[in-house]
Amino acid sequence: MRLEAHARTDPGPVREKNEDAFLVDLDTGLFIVADGMGGHAAGEVASAMAVEVIKDILLGDQDPDETRLDRATPDSEETIRERLRYAMNQASQRIRRAAIETPAQAGMGTTVCVLLIDDDLAHLGHVGDSRIYLLRSGRLQRLTRDHTVVQQEIDAGRLTPKLARIVPHKNILTQSVGYHGPVEPDTSTRPVRPGDIFIICSDGLTDPLDDDQITRICLGAPLDQLAEELIQEAIDAGGDDNITAVVVGILDD
Ligand code: CA
Repeated sequence: MRLEAHARTDPGPVREKNEDAFLVDLDTGLFIVADGMGGHAAGEVASAMAVEVIKDILLGDQDPDETRLDRATPDSEETIRERLRYAMNQASQRIRRAAIETPAQAGMGTTVCVLLIDDDLAHLGHVGDSRIYLLRSGRLQRLTRDHTVVQQEIDAGRLTPKLARIVPHKNILTQSVGYHGPVEPDTSTRPVRPGDIFIICSDGLTDPLDDDQITRICLGAPLDQLAEELIQEAIDAGGDDNITAVVVGILDD
């Protein structure tokens, strides 16, 4: 199997800044989306830091705790998920420290979605309300569960998913990288197969577009135009936030 990836990010029609950040690293199969928040451009700082720290820890040479993914010997799935959680926690601690040292960046934080594809397995980790979807056999599955107050209310049966899309507090996060210090990322591992398409996106995409609309767009656009198409449709649907879509296709050799 081989990977093909396409990514687009757009500030959207209203905001001057783009506080989303992403990473596409085809060689290692590492893909990240981060959606930063905080005043005075601090959101940009937080999302960029999260991407850098996580990439460095998972792939780089700077690895004081020797957690680097060692490609020579296969790691257990749990070991890889543990590293994802460690990397996201390191990012959280470093962003928090930077925020304490620089008053203009006080309170900054970011969502993070990490997708690591290693052979025929996909390892996922996330904190916040950016999402990872899988399109398989024409069906779209949401693989992440938002860390939001409304998701908790949906789970408790107090709110319907439809109502959750319009309530005023829909964007309040229960945890975010940086703002909350230590975080408890959700992680999972699943097998991949040729034809799978992963979509990693910020809420700038999923606020204006529901899962049915995203499915329709996925089924209508070729892989190399899908990211662009998703962003255009989000803008056309009235999206006013920064919008990021990373599209990763699993192809036959
Ligand atoms: Ca956002």
